[in-house]
Amino acid sequence: MTQPARLRITGGTVYDPANGVDGVVRDVCIEGDQIVAKVPVSAPRLDARGMVVMPGGVDMHAHVAGSSVNHARRLLPEEHAADPLTAPRLEDGAVARSGTGGTVPSTFATGYRYAGLGYTTVMEAAVAPLAARHAHAELDDTPIIDAGFFVLLGNDDYLLRQLAAGEGARARDYVAWLLGTTRGYAIKIVNPGGVAVWKGGGDRRNVSGLDDTLGSSAVTPRKILDALAGAANQLKLPHPVHIHCNNLGQPGNSATTLESMNALSGQRAHFTHLQFHSYGGAPGKGWASAARAVIEYVNAHAEVSVDVGMFGSATTVTADSPVEHLLYASSGRKWVNVDIELESGCGIVPYSYKEKAAVAALQWSVGLELFLLANDPWRVVLSTDHPNGGTFLSYPELIRLLMDRGYRDDRLKAVNQKLLVGSALLDGLAREYTLGEIAIVTRAGPARLLGLKNKGHLAPGADADVTIYANDADRAKMFATPRYVIKAGSLVVEDGQLRRAPAGRRLAVRPEYDAAVTTDVKRFFDQYACVAFENYGAALP
Ligand SMILES: [Zn+2]
Repeated sequence: MTQPARLRITGGTVYDPANGVDGVVRDVCIEGDQIVAKVPVSAPRLDARGMVVMPGGVDMHAHVAGSSVNHARRLLPEEHAADPLTAPRLEDGAVARSGTGGTVPSTFATGYRYAGLGYTTVMEAAVAPLAARHAHAELDDTPIIDAGFFVLLGNDDYLLRQLAAGEGARARDYVAWLLGTTRGYAIKIVNPGGVAVWKGGGDRRNVSGLDDTLGSSAVTPRKILDALAGAANQLKLPHPVHIHCNNLGQPGNSATTLESMNALSGQRAHFTHLQFHSYGGAPGKGWASAARAVIEYVNAHAEVSVDVGMFGSATTVTADSPVEHLLYASSGRKWVNVDIELESGCGIVPYSYKEKAAVAALQWSVGLELFLLANDPWRVVLSTDHPNGGTFLSYPELIRLLMDRGYRDDRLKAVNQKLLVGSALLDGLAREYTLGEIAIVTRAGPARLLGLKNKGHLAPGADADVTIYANDADRAKMFATPRYVIKAGSLVVEDGQLRRAPAGRRLAVRPEYDAAVTTDVKRFFDQYACVAFENYGAALP
C-alpha cells in the first residue's frame, strides 16, 4: 500500500504490557509518526485480524557501529563472501544499498535486518569517546532504527585521575561534559580498572577483584563502580550506569558479579550480559553454573536490572582487552587488539559455538536458567550482546526456547551434559514465557530500563513503532518474519518484505555540568592527548 499519513490497524490481538494490555483485540491508530487515540473512520486500514500486534522491538545492548565493530568487519572477509546482501527493492525508487551479513553485518544490512526482525530501536553498547564521530557516522548510515550509544568510562585516564585525587564533583562534571560532547546516551563500564591495567603492560595484565588497586593509586574497581553509578543517578540520566563486570567468562566469576551488585546496593545499576558472569567453579579447577545464586540476588533487589542472552555463532567484540587475550590464547583464532589512548581498549576474536563442547553447553544453559528463574521480566530482558553471544538474528530461536518447553527439552538433550550437573534446567523447569512476557523482555522492558518514554508501548503519544506478527505455533518462525513493521509511522515491512528504509533518529543526552571542568580537561588534553581539545567530540554546532 502507499504510505498513509494516518492508519488504523484493525482487529489485531494487542500486547502492550506497559499499558496493561495483554492479548486484547483492539485497534491501534497512527497519525504521522505517533500513536494517537483515534483517527477518522475514513483513514486507511491495515487488517491485522488473527495477528499479534506489539510495539517495535528494542535491543538495549548491541555492537553495531564504531571503530571496534569496523575492526571486526575487516577481520572477517570470509563472512562477507558467504552472506552477501543485494540491495532491496524499495517503494518509490528510494535509494537502497547492498551490503554484507555474517555475524557483523555492514551498516545498511544492520538496519534492514533489524527492521526485518521487527526491531526499531537499538543501543550501541560501547563507544570510546575518541571514536564517537566514527560511531555517529556509521549510525547515520544505518537506516530505519533509532539508535544511541553508551560511552566507555570505566578505564578512562582523566576520570581515574580525578578519583585518585578525591575530586568526586569534578569527576561527575567530566562525565556530564563527555556525554554531551560525544552525543552519547549512557555511561558504560567495561571490566572496571582491568583494561587500564592491561594497557599498563606490566606483569599484572588485569584486575582480579573489586579491591585490587590500580598502579600506585588508591583507585579500585569498587571506587570506579561507585563513582559512575553515583554520577548516572545524580545527573538523572535516563539509563543508569551500564556495567560489564570484572572477570567476564571465567569460572567462579559469580562471586565477583554478586560482590559488584552488593557494592552498589541501593543504587540503580544495570548489569549486562549476565550469562557471561554467572559461573561457579574456579579458574583451573572447572566450571559450574551459578545462575541460581545470581538471579536470586536480582530477584530480591529492585534497584538491579540485567540483560541476558543464550549462545550461538558469534564474534566477540569488547573493550575488555584482557578477556579477549584469554579467548585468543584458548581458541587459537585470529584476533585484533587495540589500545585507545587514555580511554579504553578493544579486542576481537571470532567464536564458534559448539553444542557438543562442555563449556559452550554450560554457557548456553546459564542464559536459559537465568530467564527461567527470573521473577520480574521488566528487569531481566533479552539481548545477546550482538555479536558477542550470538547475532540479533538468533532472537526468534531464543524466544522459542523461552516459550516452548518441549522444544527446549529436546535442545537440552542434544547438548553436552558434562557440566550441566547442578543446573536448574535438569530439575525440569516447566516455565513457558507467555506472549505478554515476551513483549516485556523484547520491547517494553528494555525501553523502560533505558528511560525511553516514547518507546516500547502503544499509548497515545508513543512513537509509532509497531510490529505485527502472523500468529504461528512455531514461535521461532513467527518472530523471524513479522508481516508488518511500522517505524515512526512509516510502513517499512509489508507482507514480510522490506519496502521503505527511512533514516532513524539519534538518541542522546545532554546533562548539565559546571563548565569550569573544561578548563582542567583542556589542560589535560594539552599535556597528554594526540587530539586537540577543540577537535575532540562529536557535538553538533
Ligand atoms: Zn557488549
